[in-house]
Amino acid sequence: MTLPEENAGTLFIVATPIGNLGDISQRAIDTLRDVDIIACEDTRHTKKLLSAFSINGKTMSLHDHNERQKQEYIGEQLTAGNNVALVSDAGTPLISDPGFHLVRYCRQLGLNVSPVPGACAAIAALSVAGLPTDRFAFEGFLPSKSGARQATLQNVANETRTMVFYDAPRRAIDTVADIVTVLGEERYIVIARELTKTFETIHSAKAGEMHAWLSNDPNQLKGEMVLIIEGMTASASEITADVERALKRVLKELPPKKACAVIADLYSVNKKALYELSLSYK
Ligand code: SAM
Repeated sequence: MTLPEENAGTLFIVATPIGNLGDISQRAIDTLRDVDIIACEDTRHTKKLLSAFSINGKTMSLHDHNERQKQEYIGEQLTAGNNVALVSDAGTPLISDPGFHLVRYCRQLGLNVSPVPGACAAIAALSVAGLPTDRFAFEGFLPSKSGARQATLQNVANETRTMVFYDAPRRAIDTVADIVTVLGEERYIVIARELTKTFETIHSAKAGEMHAWLSNDPNQLKGEMVLIIEGMTASASEITADVERALKRVLKELPPKKACAVIADLYSVNKKALYELSLSYK
């Protein structure tokens, strides 16, 4: 690791609005105005933001496909004493956005990296979801294909923390159908769409009801959305279609009491409820 000069510059990680320009902070404006270089996920997109605040900064592009090539140049600029801001198209850089490689590289060089915090869709959605926020899991984007999406949901089926996903509203009906299949129609979910924008909508319902609600209103399939899924709770841990499938399979190998004990342990489901269900198969 080379030690940076004492007068090395700082890499500022600057959050920008997720829709409403009024959400930019004064410090973000000042920082973008003062830095020598603004590294942008998309320069054309960021120039619109800059022009709204009459900022004529020098921009360069830094996106998923060139981040590793550009990190060296940015490292040199910082070492030479220039200040650099990193912005993404919306919200907080690095949160399902480019910047991780650059920040890691700069930190490895011992360069200053400083946050200018602000909007983040995941946190904004969580703040209004009405689900526990003392612990939560940010899961990023859900896969676009149903098979992979169901596998992702299966992996978090027993997660007890509130889960936050990014997803495209145009896929919302299919996504919620997958939630019903994997987590059951009783699982409580929240869709936070178009946050901070004109058509902001925050709707919470059990997965089965959410599916019907989305199917009845095509307007809910537009724009951008955050999907929040309640963690597994005593009520959400009731027997889902998946648990039932597993139970039926294990019942072929083990006597009912043992089969129910195994499934109850694996899926954190009530053993007695499973046993009662297993009796109904006879
Ligand atoms: N870095 C951003 C942040 O801090 O939120 C997220 C970038 S990620 C590429 C974009 C995704 O964030 C969208 O597909 C959507 O899931 C979510 N998102 C961004 N803006 C949103 C908004 N205004 N309302 C709801 N979701 C939004």
